[in-house]
Amino acid sequence: MYMVFFLGIFFRRKTALSYVSKMALPIIVKWGGQEYSVTTLSEDDTVLDLKQFLKTLTGVLPERQKLLGLKVKGKPAENDVKLGALKLKPNTKIMMMGTREESLEDVLGPPPDNDDVVNDFDIEDEVVEVENREENLLKISRRVKEYKVEILNPPREGKKLLVLDVDYTLFDHRSCAETGVELMRPYLHEFLTSAYEDYDIVIWSATNMKWIEAKMKELGVSTNANYKITFMLDSAAMITVHTPRRGLIDVKPLGVIWGKFSEFYSKKNTIMFDDIGRNFLMNPQNGLKIRPFMKAHLNRDKDKELLKLTQYLKEIAKLDDFLDLNHKYWERYLSKKQGQ
Ligand SMILES: [Mg+2]
Repeated sequence: MYMVFFLGIFFRRKTALSYVSKMALPIIVKWGGQEYSVTTLSEDDTVLDLKQFLKTLTGVLPERQKLLGLKVKGKPAENDVKLGALKLKPNTKIMMMGTREESLEDVLGPPPDNDDVVNDFDIEDEVVEVENREENLLKISRRVKEYKVEILNPPREGKKLLVLDVDYTLFDHRSCAETGVELMRPYLHEFLTSAYEDYDIVIWSATNMKWIEAKMKELGVSTNANYKITFMLDSAAMITVHTPRRGLIDVKPLGVIWGKFSEFYSKKNTIMFDDIGRNFLMNPQNGLKIRPFMKAHLNRDKDKELLKLTQYLKEIAKLDDFLDLNHKYWERYLSKKQGQ
């Protein structure tokens, strides 16, 4: 009670009485690759109060903020909705989109030092030792048994499988923007539309499902009429492996999919795109390391990666299996085929 009263006195402009009856509601807001803790609002405050507070933390004006994950009855919460009505659990994470008026400079800055892409390493040395270790295979079989996949659209007979990372592969998740579309990798929908003719499409991102769903919706991937997503996997489907030189790392083992959907997908017909090569550690032969799409504001007129990869996928879809391919040299393969 003392704490609530204390917060009421110091942080609120309304009467202290309402804070005695209403609980503080801590919320975590992700924006521009960082997390901000909001601890001074209560259930009685509105979405606009939250936006105003976020302005003090981030400098983004309330009218430029878009808050993903704040919903009432399935619709985005308007400014006058009370936070109490959103039924948020304490420390719920939500995502904010929006730019500061003066932030172009930030947007164009280099990625932070701790960025995964910067810290990626060449996996070749590690592969042999890790790929077939029994403890890792055991972890995969545990995921096959325990991880629940929600099928969005049934696998299709005779299709190959394309597994796609999200962050930096399909969009730039670090730059600031008003909408996801500004951060979307060029040709995304055309790429997915073409790929869908030959491949079932699976999304696999190292965050949790709530984020993945929010991002796919924001990009218009979940609702596009020209292709369908078969299912999506999150970080809980990943495993941690021990590598001799790099210690513990989290990877995306395709064996989880192959185990769960063995009648459709295998090493022979699966390709996975990720900007982080170590995610392929358990299945290097099936991985294609895509160039990361960063600094969307600078690069969205130049980036042609998905356009070229559309052609590569089309080309290799003609093959019976992928066992002889080395995706590291996909561009060489493509230009050779196109030259013929
Ligand atoms: Mg990524």
